[in-house]
Amino acid sequence: MSLKGKTALITGSTSGIGLGIAKSFAQEGINIVMNGFGDANTVERERATLEKHGIKATYNPADMTKPHEITALVEEAEDTFGSIDILVNNAGIQHVSPIEDFPPEKWDAVIGINLSSTFHTTRLALPGMKKAGWGRIINIGSIHSLVASANKAAYVAAKFGVLGMTKTVALETAQNNITCNCICPAYVNTPLVQGQVPAQAKAHNIPEDEVIEKIMLAPQPIKKLVQTQHLGEFCLFLCSDAAQNITGAALPIDGGWTAA
Ligand code: NAD
Repeated sequence: MSLKGKTALITGSTSGIGLGIAKSFAQEGINIVMNGFGDANTVERERATLEKHGIKATYNPADMTKPHEITALVEEAEDTFGSIDILVNNAGIQHVSPIEDFPPEKWDAVIGINLSSTFHTTRLALPGMKKAGWGRIINIGSIHSLVASANKAAYVAAKFGVLGMTKTVALETAQNNITCNCICPAYVNTPLVQGQVPAQAKAHNIPEDEVIEKIMLAPQPIKKLVQTQHLGEFCLFLCSDAAQNITGAALPIDGGWTAA
């Protein structure tokens, strides 16, 4: 089955992994609903670049901490394209701090954007998928859906939650030709990772230019950051017919991190 003409809503697709997935999808003829924050000119340039593949791409800056904005995002996507066939729950933030110093407002933001938004988009998009008789939900979890790291209490709690919700949604949609899976990447070279470098350097008392090699890649047998393009291609596979029996799965792309 061709994916050409299907529509994907990708939260947090103005940057990093989400934008990488949008590019892979657009190349296969999938229409894109972009979401996320960013400089208006830059976002418009990325949106227009996606359309060079002959698809339609729209942009809605809904804030994933605000359920009413998420409702408006899903409604606008369905009004524009008829249905959301593929939902990629990708928007996310990080905050690195020991738990006793963790600011409560950062806890709320990390849980809201990384976990609760996935609940809202999923509950809102599912009726349309069921009506259409086909759907793919791809949750961007993390290696931290499977194992913890120190100083990331909210992120680890949110990402374990995303995996738990993935399994529940998979069971609830098993008879509807819909799959729901959780991709669990190790470190991917994106602004989210670059943003952690100063805090990690401080926490481990090492120079910033040593953080990727000495901290981030330390537990990873394959000493390479994951590429956004590879995640995009993996998402395309999950949307294919060949992946119709893969649901409720935690799918690590972690350079062997969880093999140890
Ligand atoms: P990124 O910072 O490059 O992109 C995050 C995206 O989320 C951006 O588009 C941003 O605008 C959007 N966003 C942030 N807050 C938002 C809000 N309130 N409402 C709407 N959009 C919002 O980060 P990334 O590395 O591409 O991360 C994407 C996802 O991948 C996250 O869920 C992250 O946890 C996960 N992940 C990242 C890595 C990694 O190493 N980079 C590894 C595993 C999992």
